Amino acid sequence: GADAAARRGCAGLSRGVATPAPRPLAIFGGTFDPVHLGHLRAAWEAAEQLDAEVRLLPARVPPHRPQPLASAAARVALLRAALAGQDRLGLDLRELARPGPSYSVDTLSALRAEYGTQRPLILLLGEDACAGLPSWDRWMQLFDLAHIVVLTRPASRPPWPDSLQRQWRQRAVAAPAALRAAAAGAMFSLRVSALEISASQVRALLAAGREPRYLLPDALLADAALLAPYRMPPL
Ligand code: ATP
Repeated sequence: GADAAARRGCAGLSRGVATPAPRPLAIFGGTFDPVHLGHLRAAWEAAEQLDAEVRLLPARVPPHRPQPLASAAARVALLRAALAGQDRLGLDLRELARPGPSYSVDTLSALRAEYGTQRPLILLLGEDACAGLPSWDRWMQLFDLAHIVVLTRPASRPPWPDSLQRQWRQRAVAAPAALRAAAAGAMFSLRVSALEISASQVRALLAAGREPRYLLPDALLADAALLAPYRMPPL
Protein backbone atom coordinates (compact mmCIF):
# COMPACT_ATOMS: atom_id res chain seq x y z
CA GLY A 1 0.00 0.00 0.00
CA ALA A 2 1.42 3.37 1.07
CA ASP A 3 4.87 1.91 1.80
CA ALA A 4 5.16 0.36 -1.61
CA ALA A 5 4.09 3.65 -3.20
CA ALA A 6 6.71 5.49 -1.16
CA ARG A 7 9.40 3.03 -2.25
CA ARG A 8 8.40 3.42 -5.87
CA GLY A 9 8.68 7.17 -5.31
CA CYS A 10 12.25 6.70 -4.06
CA ALA A 11 13.19 4.52 -7.00
CA GLY A 12 12.36 7.33 -9.40
CA LEU A 13 10.73 7.20 -12.79
CA SER A 14 11.89 7.55 -16.37
CA ARG A 15 14.26 10.35 -17.37
CA GLY A 16 12.70 13.79 -17.64
CA VAL A 17 9.90 13.00 -15.19
CA ALA A 18 10.23 14.54 -11.77
CA THR A 19 10.54 11.95 -9.06
CA PRO A 20 7.61 12.34 -6.70
CA ALA A 21 8.66 13.08 -3.13
CA PRO A 22 8.11 10.01 -0.96
CA ARG A 23 5.13 10.29 1.37
CA PRO A 24 6.26 11.35 4.85
CA LEU A 25 6.03 8.93 7.75
CA ALA A 26 5.00 10.62 10.97
CA ILE A 27 5.15 9.05 14.42
CA PHE A 28 3.10 10.25 17.38
CA GLY A 29 4.45 8.92 20.66
CA GLY A 30 2.83 8.95 24.07
CA THR A 31 1.84 6.83 27.01
CA PHE A 32 -1.79 6.74 25.78
CA ASP A 33 -2.99 5.98 29.32
CA PRO A 34 -5.66 5.89 27.87
CA VAL A 35 -5.83 7.11 24.25
CA HIS A 36 -8.53 9.81 23.86
CA LEU A 37 -10.12 11.95 21.15
CA GLY A 38 -7.56 14.74 21.70
CA HIS A 39 -4.82 12.36 20.52
CA LEU A 40 -6.89 10.81 17.76
CA ARG A 41 -8.25 13.99 16.21
CA ALA A 42 -4.80 15.67 16.31
CA ALA A 43 -3.22 12.62 14.65
CA TRP A 44 -6.01 12.47 12.05
CA GLU A 45 -5.65 16.13 11.12
CA ALA A 46 -1.86 15.74 10.93
CA ALA A 47 -2.31 12.82 8.52
CA GLU A 48 -4.65 14.91 6.38
CA GLN A 49 -2.80 18.19 6.44
CA LEU A 50 0.70 16.73 6.01
CA ASP A 51 -0.50 13.99 3.63
CA ALA A 52 1.55 11.62 5.75
CA GLU A 53 1.30 8.08 7.01
CA VAL A 54 0.77 8.56 10.76
CA ARG A 55 1.50 5.91 13.38
CA LEU A 56 0.66 6.08 17.06
CA LEU A 57 3.65 4.78 18.97
CA PRO A 58 3.02 3.81 22.58
CA ALA A 59 6.05 4.43 24.75
CA ARG A 60 7.66 2.12 27.25
CA VAL A 61 7.95 3.99 30.51
CA PRO A 62 11.36 3.66 32.15
CA PRO A 63 11.23 2.13 35.64
CA HIS A 64 12.34 5.34 37.38
CA ARG A 65 9.46 7.38 35.93
CA PRO A 66 5.84 7.43 37.17
CA GLN A 67 4.25 4.31 35.74
CA PRO A 68 1.09 4.37 33.61
CA LEU A 69 -2.00 3.13 35.40
CA ALA A 70 -2.73 0.51 32.75
CA SER A 71 -0.27 -2.14 31.57
CA ALA A 72 1.29 -1.93 28.13
CA ALA A 73 -1.01 -4.74 26.96
CA ALA A 74 -4.10 -2.89 28.21
CA ARG A 75 -3.01 0.37 26.56
CA VAL A 76 -2.40 -1.46 23.27
CA ALA A 77 -5.86 -3.07 23.47
CA LEU A 78 -7.36 0.42 23.89
CA LEU A 79 -5.35 1.75 20.95
CA ARG A 80 -6.40 -1.17 18.73
CA ALA A 81 -10.07 -0.62 19.59
CA ALA A 82 -9.71 3.13 19.00
CA LEU A 83 -8.09 2.63 15.59
CA ALA A 84 -10.45 -0.09 14.32
CA GLY A 85 -12.40 0.65 11.18
CA GLN A 86 -10.05 3.18 9.57
CA ASP A 87 -6.71 2.89 7.86
CA ARG A 88 -5.29 6.39 7.94
CA LEU A 89 -3.77 6.00 11.42
CA GLY A 90 -1.57 3.01 12.22
CA LEU A 91 0.04 1.55 15.32
CA ASP A 92 3.76 0.98 15.82
CA LEU A 93 4.69 -1.24 18.76
CA ARG A 94 8.47 -1.20 18.34
CA GLU A 95 9.21 0.65 21.58
CA LEU A 96 7.22 -1.87 23.59
CA ALA A 97 9.09 -4.74 21.97
CA ARG A 98 12.53 -3.30 22.70
CA PRO A 99 13.91 -3.95 26.19
CA GLY A 100 15.45 -1.15 28.23
CA PRO A 101 14.70 2.56 28.02
CA SER A 102 13.33 3.72 24.70
CA TYR A 103 14.69 6.97 23.39
CA SER A 104 13.04 8.68 20.44
CA VAL A 105 16.42 9.15 18.82
CA ASP A 106 16.91 5.35 18.73
CA THR A 107 13.39 4.78 17.42
CA LEU A 108 13.90 7.34 14.65
CA SER A 109 17.32 5.84 13.79
CA ALA A 110 15.65 2.45 13.37
CA LEU A 111 12.96 3.97 11.13
CA ARG A 112 15.61 5.83 9.13
CA ALA A 113 17.51 2.56 8.60
CA GLU A 114 14.28 0.87 7.52
CA TYR A 115 13.02 3.55 5.11
CA GLY A 116 16.26 4.97 3.73
CA THR A 117 17.61 8.50 3.50
CA GLN A 118 14.95 9.97 1.17
CA ARG A 119 11.67 9.50 2.96
CA PRO A 120 10.70 12.43 5.18
CA LEU A 121 10.27 11.30 8.78
CA ILE A 122 8.23 13.48 11.14
CA LEU A 123 8.08 13.48 14.91
CA LEU A 124 4.66 14.78 16.02
CA LEU A 125 4.59 16.46 19.41
CA GLY A 126 1.94 18.38 21.31
CA GLU A 127 3.04 21.87 22.36
CA ASP A 128 3.43 20.75 25.97
CA ALA A 129 5.57 17.74 25.07
CA CYS A 130 7.69 19.88 22.73
CA ALA A 131 8.61 22.27 25.57
CA GLY A 132 10.46 19.38 27.24
CA LEU A 133 12.42 18.42 24.13
CA PRO A 134 15.80 19.85 25.28
CA SER A 135 15.80 17.36 28.17
CA TRP A 136 15.45 14.36 25.84
CA ASP A 137 18.43 12.08 25.27
CA ARG A 138 20.64 13.38 22.38
CA TRP A 139 17.84 15.79 21.43
CA MET A 140 19.83 17.70 18.81
CA GLN A 141 20.31 14.48 16.84
CA LEU A 142 16.55 14.31 16.39
CA PHE A 143 16.83 17.07 13.76
CA ASP A 144 19.25 14.95 11.71
CA LEU A 145 16.71 12.15 11.65
CA ALA A 146 13.31 13.82 11.36
CA HIS A 147 11.28 16.98 11.02
CA ILE A 148 9.47 18.07 14.14
CA VAL A 149 5.82 19.09 13.82
CA VAL A 150 4.29 20.75 16.86
CA LEU A 151 0.55 20.26 17.32
CA THR A 152 -1.36 23.06 19.02
CA ARG A 153 -2.93 22.00 22.30
CA PRO A 154 -5.34 24.21 24.25
CA ALA A 155 -4.33 25.30 27.77
CA SER A 156 -1.00 23.52 27.42
CA ARG A 157 1.53 25.92 26.08
CA PRO A 158 4.34 25.99 28.65
CA PRO A 159 7.14 28.45 27.83
CA TRP A 160 9.80 27.04 25.55
CA PRO A 161 13.41 27.06 26.80
CA ASP A 162 15.83 29.34 24.94
CA SER A 163 17.67 26.41 23.34
CA LEU A 164 14.41 25.27 21.75
CA GLN A 165 13.41 28.75 20.63
CA ARG A 166 16.79 29.05 18.92
CA GLN A 167 16.14 25.85 16.95
CA TRP A 168 12.68 27.13 16.07
CA ARG A 169 14.08 30.39 14.67
CA GLN A 170 16.53 28.47 12.48
CA ARG A 171 14.29 25.66 11.35
CA ALA A 172 10.66 26.84 11.20
CA VAL A 173 8.96 26.50 7.82
CA ALA A 174 5.73 28.24 6.86
CA ALA A 175 3.93 25.45 5.00
CA PRO A 176 3.84 21.65 5.15
CA ALA A 177 5.05 21.40 1.53
CA ALA A 178 8.53 22.29 2.82
CA LEU A 179 8.53 19.05 4.81
CA ARG A 180 8.75 17.13 1.53
CA ALA A 181 11.69 19.11 0.21
CA ALA A 182 14.03 17.47 2.74
CA ALA A 183 13.97 14.25 4.73
CA ALA A 184 14.62 15.88 8.14
CA GLY A 185 15.61 19.04 9.97
CA ALA A 186 12.63 21.42 9.73
CA MET A 187 10.09 22.48 12.33
CA PHE A 188 6.47 23.29 11.64
CA SER A 189 3.57 24.32 13.84
CA LEU A 190 0.33 22.62 12.87
CA ARG A 191 -2.93 24.10 14.08
CA VAL A 192 -5.33 21.30 14.94
CA SER A 193 -8.89 21.44 16.32
CA ALA A 194 -8.65 22.58 19.91
CA LEU A 195 -9.87 19.70 22.08
CA GLU A 196 -9.08 20.27 25.70
CA ILE A 197 -8.92 16.60 26.66
CA SER A 198 -6.18 14.87 28.63
CA ALA A 199 -5.61 11.30 29.74
CA SER A 200 -5.35 12.56 33.33
CA GLN A 201 -8.85 13.99 33.08
CA VAL A 202 -10.17 10.69 31.70
CA ARG A 203 -8.43 8.72 34.47
CA ALA A 204 -9.89 11.04 37.11
CA LEU A 205 -13.43 10.62 35.73
CA LEU A 206 -13.14 6.84 35.67
CA ALA A 207 -11.65 6.70 39.16
CA ALA A 208 -14.61 8.75 40.39
CA GLY A 209 -17.02 6.27 38.81
CA ARG A 210 -18.08 8.66 36.07
CA GLU A 211 -18.32 7.96 32.36
CA PRO A 212 -15.91 9.75 29.99
CA ARG A 213 -18.35 9.48 27.08
CA TYR A 214 -17.60 11.80 24.14
CA LEU A 215 -14.01 12.24 25.32
CA LEU A 216 -13.06 8.79 24.00
CA PRO A 217 -14.15 6.77 20.98
CA ASP A 218 -17.45 4.97 21.74
CA ALA A 219 -15.74 1.63 21.09
CA LEU A 220 -13.70 2.04 24.28
CA LEU A 221 -16.90 2.36 26.31
CA ALA A 222 -18.69 -0.47 24.53
CA ASP A 223 -16.39 -3.15 25.98
CA ALA A 224 -16.27 -2.90 29.79
CA ALA A 225 -12.98 -4.82 29.99
CA LEU A 226 -11.06 -2.18 28.04
CA LEU A 227 -11.30 0.60 30.63
CA ALA A 228 -11.42 -1.72 33.67
CA PRO A 229 -7.81 -0.87 34.69
CA TYR A 230 -8.93 2.71 35.37
CA ARG A 231 -12.14 1.97 37.26
CA MET A 232 -12.33 1.68 41.02
CA PRO A 233 -12.93 -1.93 42.05
CA PRO A 234 -16.45 -2.37 43.52
CA LEU A 235 -16.43 -2.19 47.32
P1 ATP B 1 -1.55 12.82 30.67
O1 ATP B 1 -2.78 13.62 30.97
O2 ATP B 1 -1.52 11.48 31.32
O3 ATP B 1 -0.27 13.59 30.84
P2 ATP B 1 -1.87 13.26 27.79
O4 ATP B 1 -3.34 13.41 27.56
O5 ATP B 1 -1.01 14.48 27.76
O6 ATP B 1 -1.61 12.41 29.11
P3 ATP B 1 0.13 11.66 26.38
O7 ATP B 1 0.00 10.21 26.04
O8 ATP B 1 1.07 12.03 27.46
O9 ATP B 1 -1.36 12.20 26.72
O10 ATP B 1 0.40 12.53 25.10
C1 ATP B 1 0.97 12.03 23.91
C2 ATP B 1 1.10 13.18 22.94
O11 ATP B 1 -0.19 13.67 22.59
C3 ATP B 1 1.87 14.39 23.48
O12 ATP B 1 2.71 14.88 22.44
C4 ATP B 1 0.76 15.37 23.82
O13 ATP B 1 1.21 16.71 23.76
C5 ATP B 1 -0.26 15.08 22.74
N1 ATP B 1 -1.63 15.40 23.13
C6 ATP B 1 -2.32 14.85 24.16
N2 ATP B 1 -3.55 15.36 24.25
C7 ATP B 1 -3.67 16.27 23.26
C8 ATP B 1 -4.75 17.17 22.85
N3 ATP B 1 -5.90 17.21 23.50
N4 ATP B 1 -4.50 17.96 21.77
C9 ATP B 1 -3.31 17.93 21.13
N5 ATP B 1 -2.27 17.11 21.47
C10 ATP B 1 -2.44 16.30 22.53
